[in-house]
Amino acid sequence: MTQRILFNVSKEMSAVLELARELIRCQSITPDDAGCQDILAGRLEARGFTCRRLRFGEVDNLWARRGSDGPLLAFAGHTDVVPPGDTQRWTYPPFSATVADGKLWGRGAADMKGALAAMVCALEHFASAYADHPGSVALLVTGSEERFSPNGVRRVVQWLAERNELPEWCVIGEPSSSRRIGDQIRHGRRGSLTCRLKVHGTQGHVAYPQLADNPIHRLVRIIKDLTERTWDVGDANFPPTTLQVTELNAGTGADNVIPPEASTVFNFRHGPALTAAAIKAAVEEIAAVQQGRTELDWDHDGDPFITHGGPLVEAVKVAVADNTGRAPALSTGGGTSDGRFIAPAGVDVVELGTINATIHAVDEHVHLTELEGLEQIYRDIISHLLFRS
Ligand SMILES: [Zn+2]
Repeated sequence: MTQRILFNVSKEMSAVLELARELIRCQSITPDDAGCQDILAGRLEARGFTCRRLRFGEVDNLWARRGSDGPLLAFAGHTDVVPPGDTQRWTYPPFSATVADGKLWGRGAADMKGALAAMVCALEHFASAYADHPGSVALLVTGSEERFSPNGVRRVVQWLAERNELPEWCVIGEPSSSRRIGDQIRHGRRGSLTCRLKVHGTQGHVAYPQLADNPIHRLVRIIKDLTERTWDVGDANFPPTTLQVTELNAGTGADNVIPPEASTVFNFRHGPALTAAAIKAAVEEIAAVQQGRTELDWDHDGDPFITHGGPLVEAVKVAVADNTGRAPALSTGGGTSDGRFIAPAGVDVVELGTINATIHAVDEHVHLTELEGLEQIYRDIISHLLFRS
């Protein structure tokens, strides 16, 4: 395999770097878009893309497409960022988009304005180089990924489905890389399910427990059963299901009172071996063993998904290997992403973006070489998919 030397940044500021800086300077703290999508739409319209601004509720979304034939390859990402926190702790102001030490610093540099800039530049290059390309390319952007909104990608996917315009393939620019660009891609994600469980008892004096019913004792036994259970053993693509308790609340503030209730919150991360329904049924069964009155409240954050092989995964693997000299590792790790709304619609989804070491942290940054490399990889993915024989 020959390794192309693509990751040298020219002395002139590259187009991808310039665009990434422009986006970072927009203070698009979720769910505010702060003008990012105007910039993206303006650039793509100039290259023959048809842009649809989809304002659903409080969320700005954008669907930009070039071409009307199939197959359709879409890139996807978000313009919103998490708040910077205490700006005094940043080496450079978080929205200054400072370039120093071969890096671009700022909130959103890695998650994920750097990748958005690389996608747009790759699409622009493709549109200029192959004006009469086969198939179609598109960009799907939402302004609310960091904070879930039903009016973000989930709504856009419904809109696309109604118009019969769902893509065959989707590359999401979430920061998938671990130490080097493209060393890891995500071809699936685990599902996430959160339970709020409340155990009701009977309040009373600790000296007269026979007149009371202590909910803490029952809750502790339930938690013991939940945390000691082996939920599944995982499979070739997914690690075993995990359960983590994240909250535990009880007590009246008086040390001689048995409280009337006790509650806990716990979250499951699971692969396709277990459905959300199966998990719910098992938890209900475990809670019922302790008798008494319990209340369970569920937040279903997303089902697991996986893209098995196929042209998209192959194209991404080849593009990464050609540009970095190494094949990427396929992973289903990390938290949930907007892939949970796109993949269930029957779309092949792969996530490939910058290095995730500083996302959501103080001093978030990307290496300039990452931006250049990512744009080149994205360009190659487009060519491989739309010009494959
Ligand atoms: Zn992100």
